[in-house]
Amino acid sequence: MSVMDEPDFAPKFAKSNVKRTGHPTSCPACAADLTGDEIPHGSLFEVEATHFSRVIWVSSMKRDAGVAYKCPDCEHEWAIPGREAWFAEHKSGE
Ligand SMILES: [Zn+2]
Repeated sequence: MSVMDEPDFAPKFAKSNVKRTGHPTSCPACAADLTGDEIPHGSLFEVEATHFSRVIWVSSMKRDAGVAYKCPDCEHEWAIPGREAWFAEHKSGE
């Protein structure tokens, strides 16, 4: 079982991702490889992923949650798939 309480969209997105980090493996703007270091054997995250991700998680103070991904190489930002739907379901009242 996951040690983190992932929202529903994460596993769906991770399935399309070969390395199963749940995060993008390349930047849609500059195509930089965002695959990070291999996760050490015995890590708490081992079950969910094989590699760390270099992608930057852009957070919103207002929403108190991640709202976008950011490329560490070209600083391009793009929406997290399924995020708006997740907000609509879990963060109502905004
Ligand atoms: Zn980039």
